[in-house]
Amino acid sequence: FKEEDLLNAIHTLSKSFNNTLYHLHIYVGVYEITDCNEDVSIMCDKANIAIKTLHETYDKCIAYYNDSIFNDTLLEKRLVGEFDTALAEKQFCMYLQPQMTPEGRMLGAEALVRWQHPNRGLIFPGDFINVFERTGLIYRLDKYVWELAVQKLSGKNELYISVNISAKDFYYMDVYKTITTLVEKYGIIPKTLKLEITETAIMTGISGELEILEQFRNYGFQVEIDDFGSGYSSLNMLKDISADVLKIDMGFLRKSENEVKGQDILESIIALAGKIGMDVITEGVETKKQLDMLTMMGCHEFQGYYFSKPVPVSEFEEKYLV
Ligand code: C2E
Ligand code: CA
Ligand code: CA
Repeated sequence: FKEEDLLNAIHTLSKSFNNTLYHLHIYVGVYEITDCNEDVSIMCDKANIAIKTLHETYDKCIAYYNDSIFNDTLLEKRLVGEFDTALAEKQFCMYLQPQMTPEGRMLGAEALVRWQHPNRGLIFPGDFINVFERTGLIYRLDKYVWELAVQKLSGKNELYISVNISAKDFYYMDVYKTITTLVEKYGIIPKTLKLEITETAIMTGISGELEILEQFRNYGFQVEIDDFGSGYSSLNMLKDISADVLKIDMGFLRKSENEVKGQDILESIIALAGKIGMDVITEGVETKKQLDMLTMMGCHEFQGYYFSKPVPVSEFEEKYLV
C-alpha cells in the first residue's frame, strides 16, 4: 500500500463533498497487521487510537499506530482518572520562576504548575496540560493554581506573579468572575497579578476573549501575551488586542536557521512594542550572551535558565524574598 494513493483518494473524496457550506475532513488511522490471530475489533481500536493523535491538526490526515501511542493513551487515561484525587490531595503544586532585571534583581515570577505524583514522581506540565485541556479538566486546575498564586501575593505589594490562562478556561467558566472573586477574597492589588494568555488563544477565541481582556485591564490587571511570535496572527492582532506586555520566547529564534535575520526581527519587535506602549519580557534566556544582546535591543526584563529554573515556592522565598 502506498501512502500517496491513500492521500489521493482522501483528496478526491473530500473535494467531491466540499462546498461553501460544508467542509469534509477525512482522517485515516493505519494499523499494520502483524498477528493474524489478533481480534479484528482490537485492530480497529488501534487504528482509531492512531487517528486520535491527529486531533486538532488540519495539515496531516494519516496517522500510523505504534505501541508508544497506545502507552501514551493509556497513561493519559490514568492521569485523567487520577485528577480528582490529585486535586483533593493537593498533589498539584506551584513552582515559581523569577523574572529579572538585566542586573539580576527579581521583579516577579511566573507560576508554573507541577504534579507531585505519589507513584510517578514529579510530572511536568508538558505531560498533562494538553490532556486536561482536551478533557475539559483544565479550568479546575487553573482555578486552583490561580488561588495559590493570589494567596501568595496576599500582603505583598512589591511582588507580582504571572499566571497562565488556558484558551479552554473561557469555555468552562467565567474567567473574569473567577479571578476577580479571588482578588477580593484575598484583598490583593490587581496590578500584582499578571495574566498570561497566548495570542492563538485570543485570536481563535469565540467566547469574547478580546472583551474579557479589556475588562481585566479596566479592573487593574496586567495582561500579557504569552509566546508572542509563535502563532500566525502576530502583527495584525496587535492592533485589535488590548494588552500591557509582550512575552517573547527565545526558543522560537533558537529553532530558526537564519540567526541574523532572527535577531533583526527580535530587535524590531522590541522597538515596535515600545512604540505602541507595551512592555517586553523575553523568556527562555539561557546565556549571558543572549541577555546582553537583548538588553542592547531595549528589553529590560528576563525569565530563563540563565537566572533560574522554576523552583518550589519555599526555595523561591529563601532565595529572593529575604
Ligand atoms: P510557558 O507558559 O511558555 O512557560 C515557560 C516554559 O518554559 C516553562 O515550562 C519553563 O520551565 C520553561 N523555561 C523557562 N526558562 C527556560 C529556558 O531558559 N530554556 C528553556 N528551554 N525553557 C525554559 P514548563 O514549566 O514545563 O511549562 C510548560 C507549559 O505548560 C507552559 O509554557 C504553559 O503553557 C503550561 N503551563 C504551566 N503551568 C500551567 C498552569 O498552571 N496552567 C496552564 N493553563 N498552563 C500551564
Ligand atoms: Ca506562560
Ligand atoms: Ca511562554
